[in-house]
Amino acid sequence: MKASAILIIYTGGTIGMKQDPVDQTLKPFDFSQIADEVPELRKFAVRIDAYTFDPLIDSSDVEPSLWTRLAHLVRDRYDDYDGFVILHGTDTMAYSASALSFMLEGLTKPVIFTGSQLPIGVPRTDGKENLISAVEIAAAADEEGHALVPEVSIFFDSVLIRGNRATKLSAEAFNAFASPDCPPLAEAGIRIRYNRSVIRYPDDWNRPLKVHDRLDTRVAILKVHPGITPELVTVFLLAPEIRAVILETYGSGNAITRPWFLSLVREAGKSKAIVNVTQCKSGSVNMDIYATGRTLKLAGVVSGYDITTEAALGKLFVLLGENPDNEAVKNRFGEDLCGEISK
Ligand code: ASP
Repeated sequence: MKASAILIIYTGGTIGMKQDPVDQTLKPFDFSQIADEVPELRKFAVRIDAYTFDPLIDSSDVEPSLWTRLAHLVRDRYDDYDGFVILHGTDTMAYSASALSFMLEGLTKPVIFTGSQLPIGVPRTDGKENLISAVEIAAAADEEGHALVPEVSIFFDSVLIRGNRATKLSAEAFNAFASPDCPPLAEAGIRIRYNRSVIRYPDDWNRPLKVHDRLDTRVAILKVHPGITPELVTVFLLAPEIRAVILETYGSGNAITRPWFLSLVREAGKSKAIVNVTQCKSGSVNMDIYATGRTLKLAGVVSGYDITTEAALGKLFVLLGENPDNEAVKNRFGEDLCGEISK
C-alpha cells in the first residue's frame, strides 16, 4: 500500500500565534515555526506538506471568499493527498467547517479542521495534541485503503466531531467545541476509537468531488428576544437585498404570536426563504407542538430541525448560490444534505 500524504493548510488562528513584544497582542507566525514546535510530526510514516495562507488571519476576519479558496485548494490537490488538515482559529471554525461540508459534495477523503486555545509555542498548549491527532486521523484508512473519516470534521480536545454539527461553547476551556445533537465521529484515548456507525461513508468510493463554489450571502440572522420591536424585525425581514432569513426562535421553534410580528413574517415569506432554527443548544424545532410554532409554519416558515445556526448559514449560502428561485431553496433546506440534521 502506498504511504499516505497529508496536506496541512494553515490559515491562521491562536495555534500559530505569538505575543507581539510591543503591544502584547497575539499575532500569527509562519508554519515552519509550528513544524519546529511539533517534531512528533516527523515520526509519522506519512508525507506531510504544508500550504500557508498569506496573509494569515485571525478567524474573526473569515469571509466566504476564504471558504472558496479552501474548497478550490482541496479540489486542486485532491488527487495528490489522502487527507487535509486545516489549521484555523476557533472563533469561526464551526462556520467554516459547516460551509465546507456543503461546498465539498461527494467527499471520499478527510478534511479536518483543528486549532487551539493556547498558542503552540507555550508549555501547556493544546495545539500539539490537536494537530498530531488530526494528522493521524486524516491519514487513517481501512484494509482497502479507504479513509476512515471521509467527512469535513473538527478535531479538538480528544474528540472528532462532524463539522456541520459543531458549535463553539467555551472561550477558555480546552474542550471548546460541542456537537450536542450528533455523537462524536471519533475519540482519542490510548488509541483512536472510530464511531463507524455515525461516520458517513460514500456508496461509491470513485465518485467525483463536486465543488459548490457559487455562494450567495444575502442571508440575515434574526434572534427573537423579549422586547424586540417591529422596527427592528422590519429591517431584518423586509430588507430588499436579503433572500433568506434564519429566524432564531425559542425552544422547539416558537416565536412571538402578536399580529404585527406574524404579518411581517407572512409578508417577508412571500418572497424570502425564512428558516426556523432554535436558540437552544440542543434539540430540534418542531412547529407542530405549540400554537406559536404552528402559526410560523402556517406563515410559510421552514423548519431547520436540529441544525445549528452556523450550519444553516453555510447551507443557505450554497443553496441560494445554486438556486435563483427561493421556493427551491425552501424545499431543499429541510433535506439532510450531509449529516447536518437528524431526521
Ligand atoms: N481569535 C482567534 C481566532 O479565531 C481565536 C482562536 O484561534 O482560538 O483566530
